Amino acid sequence: MNFAADHPARDMQDTFFIQRSPDVLLRTHTSSVQSRVMEQSQPPIRIICPGRVYRNEAISARAHCFFHQVEALYVDKNVSFADLRQTLLYFAREMFGADTQIRLRPSYFPFTEPSAEMDISCNLCGGKGCSFCKHTGWVEILGCGMVDPAVLEACGIDSSVYSGFALGMGVERITNLKYQVNDLRLFSENDTRFLDEFTAAHK
Ligand SMILES: [Zn+2]
Repeated sequence: MNFAADHPARDMQDTFFIQRSPDVLLRTHTSSVQSRVMEQSQPPIRIICPGRVYRNEAISARAHCFFHQVEALYVDKNVSFADLRQTLLYFAREMFGADTQIRLRPSYFPFTEPSAEMDISCNLCGGKGCSFCKHTGWVEILGCGMVDPAVLEACGIDSSVYSGFALGMGVERITNLKYQVNDLRLFSENDTRFLDEFTAAHK
């Protein structure tokens, strides 16, 4: 996915390597699914890949050594940044309500160019500013961008013909924003009192 050999994402400190096997590790991103699909098929490609990922983090209310991501990848002829933005807006309004606003801020990821972080208008204060959104009116929810042509080429897809976008988000983060869960550890404790709250919230 265009990660340099010395990129921190390959760092021993951030990643769980399998003992005695330096080439095998627990994945830190679901992006590995994207590269496998692109290697094995030609466009049009439209996939959603959910999965568990692992990071070497001390477990606390705000960080965990595993969590879940959902990534989306769309590769075809004439896929543009406007397509990405409209897809994000549709998702944000379906997930957080029809009045939700989005904004895109320039960012950097090795596998997309250009890259952006997406913020949504704070669903607690409606964008007026509160302690949850640090009085900015906006909260960051996902990363996205146009697939870097070098990634397409590395996967055997002709970047002069095809373009694509990708986006990725943390399931727990989205859930926190929607339901204001204040401790990440609750998601993996299997406490049915906690799980039952989501059954009720989903009705
Ligand atoms: Zn707010």
